[in-house]
Amino acid sequence: MSNALQEIVSCMGQPVAGNPTQYMMEKAFVAAGIDWRYLTLEVPPEQLADAVGGMRAMGFRGGNFTVPHKVAVVALLDGLSQAAEKIGAVNCVNSVDGKLIGENTDGKGFLQSLRTVVDPAGKQIVVMGAGGAARAVAVELALAGAAAITIVNRTRQRGQELVELLASKTSAAATLVEWQGEYAVPAEADVLINATSIGLNDPTARVPVAVATLRDGLVVADVVFNPPLTRFLIEADERGCTTLDGLGMLVNQAVVGFEIWTGVTPDAAVMREALEEFLGL
Ligand code: NDP
Repeated sequence: MSNALQEIVSCMGQPVAGNPTQYMMEKAFVAAGIDWRYLTLEVPPEQLADAVGGMRAMGFRGGNFTVPHKVAVVALLDGLSQAAEKIGAVNCVNSVDGKLIGENTDGKGFLQSLRTVVDPAGKQIVVMGAGGAARAVAVELALAGAAAITIVNRTRQRGQELVELLASKTSAAATLVEWQGEYAVPAEADVLINATSIGLNDPTARVPVAVATLRDGLVVADVVFNPPLTRFLIEADERGCTTLDGLGMLVNQAVVGFEIWTGVTPDAAVMREALEEFLGL
């Protein structure tokens, strides 16, 4: 009898549905005394337009959009923020006077997290990856005044597109390195970011970087948040680098979204705690 009861209690104590951002948002609404809900709704690509129409019809205050909708949703909105327009992708939509405005909070979340250890203004930054996360991170770093951004990507074409975007829409100097074998981090780099999906759900996965080029004083960040302690960060830590995990980015993109929708700054500590609880950390 007592075992059965315990099992029910432990089931109820676990988040059984939703996603990390939903879990953080709902906790933050309660902490801020705001009687809103955050729902997780799965939408197939061919019904995205209907879903956005539904948001309008039902008076949603906003929403987050994730893979595979981040680019496709742009055409369905009434306007874009400056960063979302440059990135060409939206992960956050805000309803302003009945108009749906697209934002991108991924890069802003990363920036807030990075600023806890270094100001990117004037810095030389290496971004590994050229997918959605890398685009958002690189554009925000450029808008924040990074002096130079090196994009390191396996697929030349995708890397080239990001370099051209940075060169045409920001004032940061942008260069491409086609990633083959172990990437040797240049001595002048201040910040090194893994914005690839290497390490996602795989603590043994190795980002191919020449470990000997990771040095004391280099700031090393990972966008991967599950697991938060990636092999890449462990190796960087062992070499004396200052490390930053992907949880900070995830919490801060949610903080920025919360502020955009409600005009209220949420309690980031409550959100971090909720995230760690959701991930069972
Ligand atoms: P995409 O699929 O858009 O891009 C993936 C990138 O990783 C590409 O540049 C791809 O290179 C590169 N890549 C993947 N596997 C390898 C490999 N074996 N070797 C070299 N390069 C590789 O993914 P996203 O940009 O959307 O997401 C990337 C990561 O960012 C995910 O882990 C996601 O969870 C995380 N993320 C974290 C957030 C946070 O808040 N912490 C927010 C958003 C994303 P190529 O072009 O050659 O294929």
